[in-house]
Amino acid sequence: MSLHYTLDRAQEIADKLADVRARMDEVARLVAVSKYKPSSDVMAAYEKAGQLHFGENYVRVQGLEEKSKELPKEIQWHFIGSLQSNKCKILAAIPNLFVVETIDSAKKASTLDKACAAVARIQPLNIFLQVNTSGEESKSGMLPSEVLQVAQHVVAKCPHLKLAGLMTIGSPNPDLENGENPDFKARSKDDNTDEWNHGMSDDFERALQQGSTNIRVGSTIFGSRPPPTKSTA
Ligand SMILES: *Cc1c(COP(=O)(O)O)cnc(C)c1O
Repeated sequence: MSLHYTLDRAQEIADKLADVRARMDEVARLVAVSKYKPSSDVMAAYEKAGQLHFGENYVRVQGLEEKSKELPKEIQWHFIGSLQSNKCKILAAIPNLFVVETIDSAKKASTLDKACAAVARIQPLNIFLQVNTSGEESKSGMLPSEVLQVAQHVVAKCPHLKLAGLMTIGSPNPDLENGENPDFKARSKDDNTDEWNHGMSDDFERALQQGSTNIRVGSTIFGSRPPPTKSTA
């Protein structure tokens, strides 16, 4: 894939990034979700707007494997898609993979942990536990009641992983309580993980107000995507 972008496209992406950054404070991390978008878009955001964190939800087929090889090594990649066991080694071998945001079971944590060992990854790999706070069946993620047990499993049994926080996807039409989205409040008081990650194009401002430290914004920066197709992971 070509890394060449037009100046018009680069300006458009840089402007959108500036808009989003102006709507957030400096503490939170902005992950530019570049899934389905060409590497040239990532390159434009990196070179013209200094964007370092990018999110991808596929490993193969114009996903993280391919993009991480051709793009600068300074880029910090976030895997935000559903994690398949047979892709764990490919992921673990990407040196500038910053975090896997979508660990939804103890079993998957162990599979990823073994993959990190097998590829002799140098530093522990950051992970977020994905929690299905809205209880929608279509959504992946563990139940809030399972989080503690899975977190303990990671800490005790997965030496190649570093539990960095929790992640959730807010429901598209939340029933707001006093203007707050209950999905973003589900973090329990005795949860000591560092980060609480939620917020996408449509809800990131509310997510930030409610304490999110990591927002994942795609279409607002790069424009709309083609509808998802099955089995391209
Ligand atoms: C696609 C995606 C996003 C970005 O969504 P936008 O609505 O385009 O901002 C964020 N998080 C996850 C997990 C995604 O799959």
